[in-house]
Order: sequence, then structure tokens, then C-alpha cells
Amino acid sequence: MSELRQDPTTKSWVILAPERAKRPQPKHRVRPADELPGWDSSCPFCPGNEELTPPEVFRLPVSNQGAPWEVRVVPNRFAALTPGENGDIVEEARLFRKMDGIGAHEVIIETPLHNMPMALMSYEQVEKVLIAYQERYNALKKEKYLKFITIFKNHGWASGTSLVHPHSQIVATPIVAPSYHRQFDIAHEYYIDRGRCLYCDLLAGELGAEERSPLPVRVTGQSSFQPDG
Ligand SMILES: [Zn+2]
Ligand SMILES: [Zn+2]
Repeated sequence: MSELRQDPTTKSWVILAPERAKRPQPKHRVRPADELPGWDSSCPFCPGNEELTPPEVFRLPVSNQGAPWEVRVVPNRFAALTPGENGDIVEEARLFRKMDGIGAHEVIIETPLHNMPMALMSYEQVEKVLIAYQERYNALKKEKYLKFITIFKNHGWASGTSLVHPHSQIVATPIVAPSYHRQFDIAHEYYIDRGRCLYCDLLAGELGAEERSPLPVRVTGQSSFQPDG
């Protein structure tokens, strides 16, 4: 099992997951989408290879009556975290804290098409991906031991993604990153100050604006999803 360890200098928690080293690594630069086939027999996310992934936890369309899937969500085979209840923090020595690497780590397979990046998808398909995000977010939110859910997407060779088939990931952890405590505090202050929700105001402002203003990309490589033009 992986482990969560706290850095005593930043109070940040990191996931130590030696299992992750076993996941497939790209041998060479990933080719651009227009050079990729629509279906790859060796790809675990392509239709026909469903048995290469753990059983799905969600799919669209929802009914299983022979309709081919359009979006699938499966647990990550090389999960950084595994489901569990023991969220006890262990004080190892003065200042050092750790806990079992419990949580959820899932993959959203965004399309049956191997070479269809989100940037080229129809709006209908993007909507299905967002529905899958929402479904899984709400399902994981019900697990009492999970305190924080992140949805992210690595795209392209430089991001370190091990599979080119368009996919996103969900990680749910029993701890909250310290940087988010600050975001909560700011949103809370905003509410006390103005009696309104900061995020609803941001969204309303974005929807009313002529141009979108992306939030700055954080140094960790995370970026916020913003509606496009
Ligand atoms: Zn594929
Ligand atoms: Zn709100």
C-alpha cells in the first residue's frame, strides 16, 4: 500500500506510491493526434480491450443494453491510493507524520476514439465527459473518509502521461492540501464581507464577459477548467 507523508516544513502531504513506477512508460515522444490511429489494439482504453482495465464504476450511456460506451470511468490500475477506512495519522517521530495511502484514483476514458483529443471533440462529447466528472465527484463526496477531490488531465508527452488515449483522472484523498485551506478562507471572508459566494460571482462574471480570462496556472502544473470562447 502507498503512504501519505507530511512535509513538516510546508505541512503539505505527498503520496509515496512505489506501485506507480510499474505503469507503462512511453518509449518515445507521443505522436500528434493526426498521426494516431482511431483504434489501437494494444491500448487498454480502446473498445474491445475493456478487460484490460478494472471493472467500470460509471459509463455513458448509463443503460447497459448493448449500446457501445461513449465515456467510461474505471479505477486506475496503477492507483496512487486505494480505498480504505483507516485514516489514522501516525506520529512517527517528532514532526514526522504519515498515514496509509487511502483514497480513490480513477480514470475517465473520455471517448472510444483513440485519436480524439478534447480540443477536437464535439460539444456533446465534452458534455458527457463533464457529466462523468460530476457523477464521480458526487459519488466520492459521499465517502466520509475522503476530504478532498481533484479532477485533472495530463495531456501530451511533456506532462508525463503514460497513455495517449484521451483520459482524465480523479484523485480523492483523506487530507486537504494547505493551499486549499487558504482558498476556503478567502471564499469564506468574501461571503462574510458581501454575503455572496465568490465562485458563483466569478462564474457569473465569466459568463457575462466578452473574453475569457483564465486563472493563472499554478506552479504544480495544475490548471483550472475555463469555458472556451
Ligand atoms: Zn486507445
Ligand atoms: Zn456558489
